Amino acid sequence: MLFDLHTHSTASDGSLSPTELVQRARLAGVDVLAITDHDTVAGIAELDKETLGSLTLLPGLELSTQWGSIGVHIVGLNIQLDSSEFKDALAGQQRARYQRAGIIAEKLKKKGFPDLLPAVIKAAGRATIGRPHFAQQLVAIDAVKTTDEAFRKYLGAGKPGDVKQLWSPLAEVIGWIRNAGGTAVLAHPDKYHLTRTKLLSLISDFKDAGGEAIEVVSGQQTTHKTRDLVTLCTQAKLLASCGSDFHQPEQRWADVGKHSALPDDCTPIWDIW
Ligand code: AMP
Ligand code: MN
Ligand code: MN
Ligand code: MN
Repeated sequence: MLFDLHTHSTASDGSLSPTELVQRARLAGVDVLAITDHDTVAGIAELDKETLGSLTLLPGLELSTQWGSIGVHIVGLNIQLDSSEFKDALAGQQRARYQRAGIIAEKLKKKGFPDLLPAVIKAAGRATIGRPHFAQQLVAIDAVKTTDEAFRKYLGAGKPGDVKQLWSPLAEVIGWIRNAGGTAVLAHPDKYHLTRTKLLSLISDFKDAGGEAIEVVSGQQTTHKTRDLVTLCTQAKLLASCGSDFHQPEQRWADVGKHSALPDDCTPIWDIW
C-alpha cells in the first residue's frame, strides 16, 4: 500500500487543483492520499467519488503554529470537517494570514518596494494567502529572478517576510486537531534547522500536547536523514508518517507518491486507523 499523507493543491500554494492532484496520485499508484493544504480544508469539497475511484482520501491540512519564536508546521489527518470549533479555528488562521500579508507588504515597502498587497491578494484569489504569493510578485516586478531567491533575500527565516507572531501556539493547534477527532503529525522536523537539543525539546513538547506522529519521510530524502528521524521517532515512542509535500510537478524531488519509503522498523501512523 502506498500512502502519501502530505500534499498541496490550489487551495493553498500548490499548482494542481484537487482533482488534478488526485489524478496524478492515482497515476503514481498512491492508495491512500491526504490533501493537506496550508490552514484550509477547502480543496477537499470539490472531489467526487468518480475522481477518487479506488483511492482513499483522508481529510487533512497543514497548520501554521508558533513554538516559542519558531514557526512550526503541524499536519492534521482524519479531521472531522463538520466540527464547528475547528471551522472557527480555521477562520482565525485565515484572518491571521491576511493580517500577516499586510505586515509583510509594509515591511517590504520599507525596503523600497512598491505596495505588493493588492497584487498579492489578487494572485491568491480563493487560495490561502501566503509568502509564495509575495515571492511570485517579487519575480513579476523583476526584484529577483526566482521565487527561491525571493525567499533567500526577503521572505525566508530571519528576513523581513518572516512574520510568525500571528500563529497560535503549538499546543493550542494540536488541541484543535484532537478535538476534531484528528491525528497531529509534526511535519518535516529537519526543516526548522534546530540544534539537536532544541529539536528534542520540540518533540517532547509536541508529544506532551497530544501529538502522535513524526513525519519520518518528507519527499525524496537521503537514507542517512531517514535513519536519524526513525531514531528520533522511536526514542520518543511516536508513530511514523510519510508524504511527498507535493506542491508542483516541476519539483521532481517532491512529486506525489514519489517520496522515499518508510522503513519497517518504525510503527506507521496507519496502524492506529
Ligand atoms: P507560508 O505558508 O506563507 O508561511 O509560506 C511557506 C511556504 O512557502 C512553504 O510551505 C513552501 O511551500 C513555500 N516556500 C518556497 N520556497 C521556500 C523557502 N525557500 N523557504 C520557505 N518556504 C518556501
Ligand atoms: Mn507550501
Ligand atoms: Mn510545511
Ligand atoms: Mn507542506
